[in-house]
Amino acid sequence: MPDTHLQIRLASRPKGWVEESNFRVVEAPIPAVRDGEVLLRNHWLSLDPYMRGRMNDTKSYAAKVEIDDVMVGGTVSEVVESKNPKFAAGDFVVAMGGWQEYATSDGAGLQKVDARLPLSSYLGAVGMPGVTAHIGLFDIGAPKAGETVVVSAAAGAVGSIVGQLAKIRGARAVGIAGGKAKCDYVVSELGFDACVDYKSPDFMDALVAATPSGIDVYFENVGGAVLDAVLTRLNPFARIPLCGLVSQYNATEPYRVKGLGSLLINRVKLQGFIVVDETSKWPAALRDLAGWVAEGKIRCRETIAEGIRSAPRAFIGMLKGENVGKQLVKLV
Ligand code: NDP
Repeated sequence: MPDTHLQIRLASRPKGWVEESNFRVVEAPIPAVRDGEVLLRNHWLSLDPYMRGRMNDTKSYAAKVEIDDVMVGGTVSEVVESKNPKFAAGDFVVAMGGWQEYATSDGAGLQKVDARLPLSSYLGAVGMPGVTAHIGLFDIGAPKAGETVVVSAAAGAVGSIVGQLAKIRGARAVGIAGGKAKCDYVVSELGFDACVDYKSPDFMDALVAATPSGIDVYFENVGGAVLDAVLTRLNPFARIPLCGLVSQYNATEPYRVKGLGSLLINRVKLQGFIVVDETSKWPAALRDLAGWVAEGKIRCRETIAEGIRSAPRAFIGMLKGENVGKQLVKLV
């Protein structure tokens, strides 16, 4: 066991686009384990858009990261030492281990994983992004068979699951993603009925062609001009689970939505949600997702960066759309 490990700490708050200089790599002692605690070796680190919000000095639904603190993040971690009777060395857990190689925990919030599925899937399809898709689509979007579900950031961690869940419910699944390669992946590998490239000059025409019966559910991940385009295609009584607005997270001027009238004339339900509020729904959602992944009904690619030093670069890349599927950092 080494004496020290590497951490990525917040060095400064971004103004607009996050840069690698906003982070600092620090070599720190591996902390001693006190009674009731476990020492975790982080094997996989999840990189997620919400982390951009934690870098700001603004009020949100969760606490910001303070300057010089270790960046927050979900991990799949191995218990390497335990002074907590609920965990033994060798257990694997989902934890908020942060952007670092080792972490201590008092056990609160740790979820043991069984090793039947690949460990990394517990940060993707069978983890927080999968549960986000499940709760947002099924509880808020509530698609019926034959309806049209559109999802933005369709090639990403959450979006790729949303479309596959829509198909399981018998709906028509249409993705919106950046670039032809991502759209081809969404249709040919994930089984969506269509996918539209929002970066293409004919985006609006392609969206109309892909949604001949209009849109009944729009799972919103990005906001901005994509939202305005979708608002023109909504059917009466459409539902919009408002999951994220990633196009806005690095913006210095907020995009001003023009098409709000569509919500009124179509009597649309738009509901924001935060997956960590919905703790009672996680166990059933995870059971569904684990079953569908094991049966091959749900799949999700991973984009994997190697080593903790690569996390800042990979995080910025994910926010710019360089990932396909779930963005991870492999630490072991
Ligand atoms: P993704 O894996 O989808 O990665 C982010 C993607 O966003 C990129 O790959 C990129 O894809 C897309 N993107 C970036 N900039 C833009 C832009 N200007 N316009 C359109 N698309 C853009 O991330 P996640 O699946 O982890 O997260 C997706 C969304 O879900 C985020 O908004 C996130 O904040 C939200 N979320 C919300 C949760 C909740 O509880 N409400 C929980 C988890 C996630 P492309 O190449 O297609 O542009």
